[in-house]
Amino acid sequence: MEKIENKVCSIFLDENYRSFTKALNQVNSTTDKNINEIYDRVLVISDENVYKTQLHKFIDSLNAKFVSEYIVPAGEESKCIDTFQKVLEHALKAGLTRKSLIIAVGGGVVGDLSGYVAASYMRGIDFVQVPTTLLAQVDSSIGGKTGINLGTYKNVVGAFYQPKFTFINVSALRTLPDSEFRNGMSEVVKYGFIYDYEFIDYLLENSDDILDKRDSALRYIVKKCAEIKAHVVEVDEKEGGLRKILNFGHTFGHGVEKLCHIAHGEAVSIGMNMAFKLSLKRNLINEEYYNKFLQVCEKFNLPTEFEGPEEHEVLSIMKTDKKNSFSKVNMMLPVEHGKVDLFNDVDDETILEIIKECK
Ligand code: NAD
Ligand code: ZN
Repeated sequence: MEKIENKVCSIFLDENYRSFTKALNQVNSTTDKNINEIYDRVLVISDENVYKTQLHKFIDSLNAKFVSEYIVPAGEESKCIDTFQKVLEHALKAGLTRKSLIIAVGGGVVGDLSGYVAASYMRGIDFVQVPTTLLAQVDSSIGGKTGINLGTYKNVVGAFYQPKFTFINVSALRTLPDSEFRNGMSEVVKYGFIYDYEFIDYLLENSDDILDKRDSALRYIVKKCAEIKAHVVEVDEKEGGLRKILNFGHTFGHGVEKLCHIAHGEAVSIGMNMAFKLSLKRNLINEEYYNKFLQVCEKFNLPTEFEGPEEHEVLSIMKTDKKNSFSKVNMMLPVEHGKVDLFNDVDDETILEIIKECK
C-alpha cells in the first residue's frame, strides 16, 4: 500500500482491498483495530453494477459486523433529491449515529451522492471514498466536492466535504467497461497537458499496457493523476485560483456534452481540441505541440470532433457554464508544454470559428 499525503486529503493506493483496514487504522492513529472498534455502525453505499462486480470483494475484506448496504440504481439519475432522501432514511433506520461511518464504493455518482449524504446526516459524519471507475480514482474522489443534481441542473446542490481518506484499488478497473475506462482516460490526458508534460510521453510509450489494464501501468497513471489532483486541491481547496486549471477542456466540452448527449470524457477531449486550436490561432503554442495532443487522443481513441448542433447553440451553452464570471466565457488555453492559463478576452466570433473547425 502506498500513501499520497497532503494537508487536505489522505489517499491510499493498492492493487486489492485487503489493506483497507490498515489505511483506516493509519488515519485514526490506531493499530490493528477492526472497523467496528472504531465506528459503531458502517453504511456502505454502492450501485447495481459495482454490487455485481466489486462489492463482495470489498465487504469480505472489511471483516465487519454492523455493516449495512444501500444499493442505488447505476447512472447519473441516482444523483437526485429523491435518492438522497432514501439513503438518509435508510441511514436513520439502520441506526447510524454521529459515530458511524459511510463508505462510498463506486464511481463519481456514488461518491458525490454518498459524500453529500455524509455531509448532511446529523450535520456531518465520517465518510470514506473507495472509487471504482478511472474517473473517480483520478478525479471525483479527491478534492471534497460532493453533491447532487436538481433535474437537469448538474451539481447545483452540494457541499465541500472532505472524506477521511480515499482508498484506491486500481485492479477494480479490470471490471470497468471499456467505454467507461475511455471516459476516465480523457481526464488522465488532461492532467498531462495542464501540469506534467512528461506524463504525456509516458502515456504514449505505455499505451498498450494501459489499454490492457496491467496493474503496474494502472498504478502509475492513477498515482500520477491523484497526486496532481491532490496537490491542486491542497493549494486551492475552494476553487479560487489554481483549481481552475482542472477545467481545461471543460468549458468548450460543456456545450457539446449537453447538446450531443455524449459521454463526459468524450466532451472533454473535444473541448481540449477546441482549446488547442484556439491556442494555435493565437500563436501560444506550435503545431508540433498540437500534434502531440492529437497523437495521444488517437492512441486512446478519444474523439476530437463532434457532429450535430450549430456553432451558436454550442456557444450559448458555454455561456451558461457556472464557472464563468460576469458573463465572460473563461477559457483555459494551453500556453506551453504542460501548462495552461486562463483567458477571458476571446470574442464570440473567434469561439464560433473554432467550434466550426471541430465539426
Ligand atoms: P458513474 O459513477 O456513473 O460510473 C460509470 C459506470 O460504471 C456506472 O454504470 C457504474 O455502475 C459502473 N462501474 C463503476 N465501477 C465499476 C467497476 N469497477 N466495474 C464495473 N462497472 C463499474 O460515473 P463516473 O464517470 O465514475 O462519475 C461521473 C460523476 O462524477 C458525474 O456525476 C460527475 O458530475 C461526477 N464528478 C464529480 C467530481 C467531483 O469533484 N466531485 C469530479 C468529476 C466528476
Ligand atoms: Zn471532467
